[in-house]
Amino acid sequence: FNTERFGQHILKNPLVAQGIVDKANLKPTDKVLEVGPGTGNLTVRILEKAKHVTAVEMDPRMAAELTKRVQGKPEQKRLEILIGDFVKADLPYFDVCISNTPYQISSPLVFRLLSHRPLFRVAILMFQREFALRLVATPGSSLWSRLSANVQLYAKVDHIMKVGKNNFRPPPQVESSVVRIVPIDPPPPVKFEEFDGLNRILFSRRNKTTNACFLAKGVLEMLESNWRTWCSERDQVIPDNVDMKAMVEEVLEETGFREQRAAKMSVDDLLKLLSAFHDVGIHFA
Ligand code: SAM
Repeated sequence: FNTERFGQHILKNPLVAQGIVDKANLKPTDKVLEVGPGTGNLTVRILEKAKHVTAVEMDPRMAAELTKRVQGKPEQKRLEILIGDFVKADLPYFDVCISNTPYQISSPLVFRLLSHRPLFRVAILMFQREFALRLVATPGSSLWSRLSANVQLYAKVDHIMKVGKNNFRPPPQVESSVVRIVPIDPPPPVKFEEFDGLNRILFSRRNKTTNACFLAKGVLEMLESNWRTWCSERDQVIPDNVDMKAMVEEVLEETGFREQRAAKMSVDDLLKLLSAFHDVGIHFA
């Protein structure tokens, strides 16, 4: 195992570790999921407040160190360590997720948590500063991106703490931030692949008009192929000369988004546009 590859930057500042756990407002009945516990600096503090912790750790040496830390103590029975890759692990029920994980798995971590059912109450997660700022970005700001829209479709995200490199051993190359993620419950009734499919097109050139984005190479062809599949699934006759460009333009015109740019469109705008496309049978996944 290599420190950089597995992002093993241990949080050394006890005040920061305690601050992260405090932000979760744990209840004595809570089951907590921790991803990448390392030597357990967060874990032991979580165990003081919560009923149970499941910690997923990929490095067996770290897992052994954590086991040693609780061995023979009463909290040992309330800690389950799963050795393996979080991305592939079967997740248990959890009320709260707390983690300082390697930044390589930031994106899969967020989306895996948000697609888990039943939904958790809150997640307190440490990320690379830039990733955190993209999670909380608002439409019109420079970091508003496909990631921002996709995550904010399902959750309210707040930036709650800046953490400098020197709080870690060894110090990472980048600054960090802690965010709070609260899932929107119930989640909006939209297929993620559809919303993300539209966003892929619009955010590929976020400062171009929506209409220009649809003219990018391969986009209309892809939509036409999806449209044909959709028609045949419904036993609808497909006309000989399909004009996908005109169909798309009509939707953009009718919804008033033709001259808009993804850089300034809100999650609500994107949902409205998606729904107008669906009304005429145009799908993105
Ligand atoms: N949470 C500890 C702390 O704050 O001191 C350790 C943080 S360290 C940045 C990240 C930890 O995640 C390391 O222990 C590393 O071995 C583990 N890890 C790396 N990739 C992982 C993965 N895919 N699944 C689970 N754990 C992983």
